Amino acid sequence: MLWVDLHTHTNASDGTDTPAALVKKAHAAGLAAVAITDHDTVAGLAEAEDAGRALGITVIRGCELSTSFDGGEAHILGLFLPKTLTALEERLAWARCRRDERNGRMVERLRDLGLDVSMSDVRAAAGGESVGRPHIAAALVARGHVKDSREAFREYLGARGKAYLPKENMAAEEAVRLLADLGATACLAHPLLRNYPLGTIDDFVARLKAVGLAALEVYHSEHSDADTRLCLGLARRFDLGISGGSDYHGAAKPGIRLGVGYGGLRVGQYVLEDLLAQRRLAGLPEILP
Ligand code: AMP
Ligand code: ZN
Ligand code: FE
Ligand code: FE
Repeated sequence: MLWVDLHTHTNASDGTDTPAALVKKAHAAGLAAVAITDHDTVAGLAEAEDAGRALGITVIRGCELSTSFDGGEAHILGLFLPKTLTALEERLAWARCRRDERNGRMVERLRDLGLDVSMSDVRAAAGGESVGRPHIAAALVARGHVKDSREAFREYLGARGKAYLPKENMAAEEAVRLLADLGATACLAHPLLRNYPLGTIDDFVARLKAVGLAALEVYHSEHSDADTRLCLGLARRFDLGISGGSDYHGAAKPGIRLGVGYGGLRVGQYVLEDLLAQRRLAGLPEILP
């Protein structure tokens, strides 16, 4: 049995490995394929693909879009992105601007709370163009205000933290439509990490399916066995494909390893093969040029 990992982050967003280093680790871990799915950027893809070609491991071009819906924030993965992304690139740039605005306002709040930290600290903590709360956390650690990222999220940056502010996102339907129009596979990420009011996840999935959602991320490091079974049922009921990945972030999420998550995750190569078969049936290229 060969394994794959269809959800990973590099330092183009809030992971800590360079794209080439991540692909090298995926190859060393014996994975047959890895998807690079950075938050709101595709800047890491070219380097990852080059590394994949050199090592002989399949690299899938992806991204993870932050979106909003009436129940809060939802993440949509785009898999098998084509090379030309005009409409998507424009929206990604918009999303990164919203991130920068929100990061700036959160840093202001931290300063109002008496913490000496600046946006240049945050930018120094970020490796790429998509900057977010983990980089603010790293800046707080570097300045000695907190002992680690967990404390930064608990005290300041998490949804109940003293400096938390929501970020403006595109609507979930828009993200799905954008990806579907490009011929990418739109996949609802970690469907059970949000606390959807009971019964509303079905409505949400139905709405997304109507605009082109193709798959659910059934296997994920932070899904319990019960979550996984629930997602499998959802995928079956809505005739959606199945994806899975670790959501690897390197040192930014210690404990999560490529391909195995916290140790118990395994995504078989057949998961990728089934997604490719679904694309063939839909008349979409298997691996886009
Ligand atoms: P942002 O996109 O800027 O809102 O940041 C969200 C990212 O922060 C997520 O993708 C996670 O990687 C990370 N994150 C969210 N909550 C926590 C937490 N409680 N502890 C550590 N990292 C977190
Ligand atoms: Zn992240
Ligand atoms: Fe996510
Ligand atoms: Fe992720």
